[in-house]
Amino acid sequence: MRDADFFRRWMTAAAAAVEREADRLTELDSPIGDADHGSNLLRGFTAVRAALEEQAREEQAPAAAGEVLQLAGRTLISTVGGASGPLYGTLLRRTGKSLGEAAEVSDAELREALLAGVDAVAQLGGAAPGDKTMLDALVPGVAALSTSYRAAGDAAENGALATVPMQARKGRASYLGERSIGHQDPGATSSALLLGALADVAGAADGTDATDGVR
Ligand code: ADP
Ligand code: MG
Repeated sequence: MRDADFFRRWMTAAAAAVEREADRLTELDSPIGDADHGSNLLRGFTAVRAALEEQAREEQAPAAAGEVLQLAGRTLISTVGGASGPLYGTLLRRTGKSLGEAAEVSDAELREALLAGVDAVAQLGGAAPGDKTMLDALVPGVAALSTSYRAAGDAAENGALATVPMQARKGRASYLGERSIGHQDPGATSSALLLGALADVAGAADGTDATDGVR
């Protein structure tokens, strides 16, 4: 079972990954965007980390697993101006809401909740897989959760790589038409970081890190 602390660790690991990769995300957003994806997410996840720390300091840390993701989602929406803020905010809020009020949730419940979260992103942005957006990492990533958390991280990573030959049909990159071909989508790349962080945190919790790929 996964408790609120598990979700705090996930958000903290995601923030660390965004910090590590912010320059790369902004570089990817240069040829097919406006070179702000790394700084957008860095601002957002720094605020998420601060909000979680503040709650912990005030001993108001939520006991409900889903509440952590809802707080993170609200924080992203209020701090990230670009397209990715409302989209990631919606992903986390809807996922958190779907988890409900329980103190602990099962892996199957988390998978269902993430599927609902990804659906909400597709609804809000009107994009589908193949449009060269974050959905090209999120959809295969969350689908692979039925195998394992590590499989989900890997599938999201492969999904991000698969955006290179795609022509963008949504977001800023779509303004470039065919010139968007040949570049990796920044949002799909950050989505792979998010699911990679989940795989790391789950692996650490389950003690599967050392044996990853062995058994
Ligand atoms: P902005 O495009 O406003 O500068 P960001 O640079 O932070 O915002 O995020 C860009 C990323 O957002 C894109 O790489 C893409 O993955 C994602 N994105 C943009 N529009 C959509 C959409 N309609 N649906 C899903 N994802 C989208
Ligand atoms: Mg941008």
